[in-house]
Amino acid sequence: MDTVKYLLADDALPTHWYNLQADLPEALPAVLHPATGKPIAESDLTPLFAKALIDQEFSRERWIEIPDAVRSILLQWRCTPLYRARRLEQVLDTPAKIFYKYEGVSPSGSHKPNTAVPQAYYNQAEGIRKIATETGAGQWGSSLAMACQIFGLECLVYMVKVSYNQKPYRRALMEAYGGQCIASPSDTTDSGRAILSKDPDCTGSLGIAISEAVEVAAKNPDTRYCLGSVLNHVMLHQTIIGLEAQSQMQMAGDYPDVIVGCTGGGSNYAGICFPFLGEQLRGGKKVRLLAVEPAACPTLTKGPLAYDYGDTAKLTPLVKMHTLGSGFVPAGFHSGGLRYHGMAPMVSHVVGCGYSDARAINQLECFSAGLTFARAEGILPAPEATHAVAGAVQEALRCKAEGRSETILFNLCGHGHFDMQAYMDYQAGKLVDYAYPEAEIAMALAGLPQV
Ligand SMILES: *Cc1c(COP(=O)(O)O)cnc(C)c1O
Repeated sequence: MDTVKYLLADDALPTHWYNLQADLPEALPAVLHPATGKPIAESDLTPLFAKALIDQEFSRERWIEIPDAVRSILLQWRCTPLYRARRLEQVLDTPAKIFYKYEGVSPSGSHKPNTAVPQAYYNQAEGIRKIATETGAGQWGSSLAMACQIFGLECLVYMVKVSYNQKPYRRALMEAYGGQCIASPSDTTDSGRAILSKDPDCTGSLGIAISEAVEVAAKNPDTRYCLGSVLNHVMLHQTIIGLEAQSQMQMAGDYPDVIVGCTGGGSNYAGICFPFLGEQLRGGKKVRLLAVEPAACPTLTKGPLAYDYGDTAKLTPLVKMHTLGSGFVPAGFHSGGLRYHGMAPMVSHVVGCGYSDARAINQLECFSAGLTFARAEGILPAPEATHAVAGAVQEALRCKAEGRSETILFNLCGHGHFDMQAYMDYQAGKLVDYAYPEAEIAMALAGLPQV
């Protein structure tokens, strides 16, 4: 058996992030001001974000340099390994070759520090003292708390209440890194209080938690807001995954026919896919991209591509994305990181232009694929990551049925060591598939802004 693990030397680590905006034949739709409906100016965002990040948000430069101070921190766990999943291939008895990039080796166990570190760096460099953010399952909150500690910033995290209660260890990790974690909706903000007065038992959503964090940043001049996904600059920072994977696939003497990623806000999918898509758009080899999302929050497969708010209180700019409506509160299924009503505008654009397929998979099939993977490869995937595993397994079985030997690459975006309750519930037969929440989504979509 040939080598199954591919690593790059430290000096072969990417020095620049890749910006897909440089190669898109059709530019991204404008971002609109929530009050006027007119395209926003970069200056509208300065109360919320560091200037360097706003520049990156709108940049169409193809390569953007990774600051040395950021690169030296990323080097602690990067490059991340690329593995050939030989034992999984045998278990599935497929002619396909399966490769996966493993982001679970970061200190907080997912791809999130790839953007938490540069975001904390730029804010500190611009004299900011405190960061407010939201988190779903807690991966983002713990990654940002770690990065803020490294750069001497305070970190305030609004955590979706259902996950706050389901995942106390993520909260403990944020606190261990010196961050402060509050269950959302909370009584510490106007938007949180407004929700609680209508529904005291509200279990929260990312849309609500974003409203709370944005409100805190908007009201405090020394505080900025950070987002762990969705925005263009987050997609940019995550391209380090795909750039490394390109070199590693070259070491393996192979090139992917299919690339699979799970999508909550879209960042880990964008991170592994965009460098390959850019190659294709510049005349290189064509690659099929597959975004996998939960059937209980089917943004790309059931949501219209429309202008909507990023949050529930309608404080954020309007962006064109696949959306289930900013008022949609998804069921409390276990992949907290995938429970977002919207999608990264860049990912929506890529899907809308026909460069990527999207597929929704139910949670029981995902957990089953997650256990198959763990038993074959030894790594227990995060519940979110099981969606990518399930997508890759479906592709491998398709190859088997068609007798084709394709090369499949997927992003294993995090480990599931903080999600053992979900696996215990699954193994005890307590998890169910949620029916497509048609009525709730129809209601939330009826409230889409008229643009
Ligand atoms: C946050 C997170 C996700 C979802 O976010 P994306 O922006 O879609 O990547 C998926 N998996 C893991 C492990 C996460 O931490």
